[in-house]
Amino acid sequence: MDKLLEAKGLRAFYGPVAVLHGIDLDVEQGEVCALLGANGAGKTTTLRALCRTKVRTEGSLSLAGEAIERKTTEQVARLGVGHVPDGRGTFLGLTVEENLRLGCYTRADRAGCGGDLERMYGYFPRLKERRRQQAGTLSGGEQQMLAISRALMARPRLLLLDEPSFGLAPLIVREIFGILAKINREQSVSILLVEQNARLALELAQRAYLLEGGRVVAHGSSEQMRQDDAVRRAYLGD
Ligand code: ATP
Repeated sequence: MDKLLEAKGLRAFYGPVAVLHGIDLDVEQGEVCALLGANGAGKTTTLRALCRTKVRTEGSLSLAGEAIERKTTEQVARLGVGHVPDGRGTFLGLTVEENLRLGCYTRADRAGCGGDLERMYGYFPRLKERRRQQAGTLSGGEQQMLAISRALMARPRLLLLDEPSFGLAPLIVREIFGILAKINREQSVSILLVEQNARLALELAQRAYLLEGGRVVAHGSSEQMRQDDAVRRAYLGD
């Protein structure tokens, strides 16, 4: 498989404080890759570094072979990196459909927007039912669906998802993860998934990295990670 994203020796800083200490991480074309780790391990910071927001970095980053470590957030978005941040980042005062249309703004072919809107409504019929409602009136699960669809409206090659299960009931999490698997298959979008729920993440992902204290301490196929002692003890409750 080809590498879509490649980070080498990635370090990240908030002011003078180093939070990532030299991470090597790849995402292959077409795969779902999970980033696991405890609170404070540096998962959110890794996603911020990759989409060039809120954190200063050192080290090299490339997307499909093109260096992106000096690009701005908007430039990497135009190159095909979509980000669903923790807290979701939807505009609560706008309607569902307005939020989705805003997702199109980094696209060159705006004409394709209408078709993609219908495609998103196909994946998430509840959003279609609520398309004229303000995003702020949606349930937590529906807001997560909206945030994911809004990022997909930009037609990203790589989707960075920060804890899509956070604060949601297990049933709705299952539903969302099922749709993510479908989107990954059908939309040729690769996914880098940050998730505290390792069991769930390893079901969706083909590969995973385990972060501790801003370092990668284990990585491998999901099957290998399920067998890894550190992962089993700390994250799978074995
Ligand atoms: P969580 O699941 O709790 O979000 P995480 O693995 O995503 O954990 P990060 O949010 O990346 O971890 O945080 C890594 C470290 O960076 C933590 O020690 C955190 O306190 C620190 N940190 C995060 N954001 C900032 C910030 N804006 N300014 C200063 N320090 C920060």
